[in-house]
Amino acid sequence: MANKWICRKCGEELQTKKTLFEYLEHNFSEDLPRCPKCGKVFISSELALGRMTDVEEMLEGK
Ligand SMILES: [Zn+2]
Repeated sequence: MANKWICRKCGEELQTKKTLFEYLEHNFSEDLPRCPKCGKVFISSELALGRMTDVEEMLEGK
């Protein structure tokens, strides 16, 4: 995907960085677009749904 993301608040171009996030009391690290100015992390609904499904399957598969 070559499309660029811009933070609506700051007008800064988002940078993809390894970002830690928490879900279901577990920590995950993913490459997510993040605003270098305000630090807001943007997760597309597609990514969120895809990842969360993976995570849930992973946890249930134990
Ligand atoms: Zn920002």
